[in-house]
Amino acid sequence: MYYITKRFELSGSHRLELSYESKCTRMHGHNWIVTIHCMAEKLNSDGMVVDFTHIKEKITSYLDHGNFNELLPFNPTAENIARWICGQVPNCYRVDVQESEGNTATYIDTEDAPHERLESFKLPE
Ligand SMILES: [Zn+2]
Repeated sequence: MYYITKRFELSGSHRLELSYESKCTRMHGHNWIVTIHCMAEKLNSDGMVVDFTHIKEKITSYLDHGNFNELLPFNPTAENIARWICGQVPNCYRVDVQESEGNTATYIDTEDAPHERLESFKLPE
């Protein structure tokens, strides 16, 4: 089995829909640190699991410096962002989204936790 990880920064803004009082319901920005984990039993014809550059390009070209509330059809918590990114990248099984120092959400794809409706909103290949 082959494993790769790609780590990059994603800048943007969001506001959260929450059932309790929180400053996070106000529009604010983050420099999220995203770590994407992919694996494959066999390498592709280029000898890769997936090209590091393509992983980053696919996500940053859509989200970077954007308003995540406008770009994503769900409450853009770090958890939901991680899950959505996992559904966008071929051979991805885990995504870590660090929102700030000490605060990281991880989504791990298992058969028990399919991407559900988040996957239905897919970026073009
Ligand atoms: Zn936030």
